[in-house]
Amino acid sequence: MGEHFCFIGNQELNGIVRGRSVPSARRETALSGGLPWVPANITIGALNTLPPDNPFGPIGEIRLMPVRDAAITLTNDEGLAYDVTLCEFAQSDGSPWACCPRTALKAAVEDLKAATGLTLKVAFEHEFTVRGLNTVDHIAFSPSAGRIGAPLAERVLAILDQAGFTLDQFVAEYGPGQYEIAGQPADPLEAADRTVLTLEAIRHAAADLGLHASFLPKPASDQVGNGVHVHFSLWRGAENVTVRDEWVEDHAGAFLAAILEAARPLTLLSTTSPNSFARYKPQSWVGAYICAGLRNREAMVRIVPRQPDAGGTYPAASMEFRTSDATANVYLMLTALIRAGLGGIQAGLQSPKSVDHDPATLDPETRSALGLEHLPSSMDDLLTDDVSARLDSWLGPLLAAAYLSCRRNDAMHAKQLTFEAMAGRLGTIY
Ligand code: GLU
Ligand code: MG
Repeated sequence: MGEHFCFIGNQELNGIVRGRSVPSARRETALSGGLPWVPANITIGALNTLPPDNPFGPIGEIRLMPVRDAAITLTNDEGLAYDVTLCEFAQSDGSPWACCPRTALKAAVEDLKAATGLTLKVAFEHEFTVRGLNTVDHIAFSPSAGRIGAPLAERVLAILDQAGFTLDQFVAEYGPGQYEIAGQPADPLEAADRTVLTLEAIRHAAADLGLHASFLPKPASDQVGNGVHVHFSLWRGAENVTVRDEWVEDHAGAFLAAILEAARPLTLLSTTSPNSFARYKPQSWVGAYICAGLRNREAMVRIVPRQPDAGGTYPAASMEFRTSDATANVYLMLTALIRAGLGGIQAGLQSPKSVDHDPATLDPETRSALGLEHLPSSMDDLLTDDVSARLDSWLGPLLAAAYLSCRRNDAMHAKQLTFEAMAGRLGTIY
């Protein structure tokens, strides 16, 4: 591999990876000492505009501090290479910065462990739309659609293999040109890093084949959406303590109850773009109703026990948070889930009841008697005092202020563009 460029960066508050690159001769220096960066850059919107009320303005300097083992090399058939190494956003002396999403996740994981002794395992599923494939029809879940996507999948696997990890599955999904990758369970930081790197590998491999891969949540109003499903499980040492007797109890029950209670702030942190809200359609398996259900794909959280072992416990069980999408910053999304869940455990919340039907099939009176609320239908519905107070407590005031300035910027753009125009612009970015 000859002289090439080495990129150092990470997802900012709009879920977009941004950073700087140096020639490979300077790689080692940059990996050890980091690179200078501008605080306001973590707020640049998807349409490349700075939120007018971002808390940083033109002032200040931070540093991109690389996470050495979170790295991939994007190569192509001509032997060209481009290294991508993820980083933390640190203060200029290298110490932690209050607005770094990865640092926020690290703290949430540590606090959960310290307060409860519990750890989390996380696996992400990402759906995406591939344009430019030579296919007359896309037969969902078929070998023909799988085979057509295989050259892309193989390139992605080769990149990840070099970086020391792999995928669990690659699936031809339901929508036209829609595919899905599933990652393997890992601790939250590792799962988040791998997700960011995998998405970059998919984008690169697609471009290299003359294709375009888009993770936009709702590519067209008459098509299924691209979701991100976050499978997570609670562990006490080597034991998965998420499910007992096919439902969540004790700490896992309290964790789940808190997620439902915090659905609004969680939504603002897990589905970030103005396009995201168009995906929340009942009966499209998004989980648009705020509830949890055993194996229920119309619930915001699906409980997935999988196979019990001989002793009747469920070693591979997970809760699946279904409403998130790839416009979110994965570190902040997990931080929010953990902070909400930890709060629920500390408050001793009771496990919610399983919703075992599709809420959309009930008449509105029955739904409201059962307390089954639909998720908000626009960003504006979430830019409220109760949501900002929760973001303050989960993220700290500066990160919350920066994050909210991004969402207000998005909400402003959303009012200026039609759904189609917005989907067209964002579809080439996400
Ligand atoms: N495409 C659906 C979503 O937007 C999910 C379908 C599935 O269950 O895989 O989340
Ligand atoms: Mg899927």
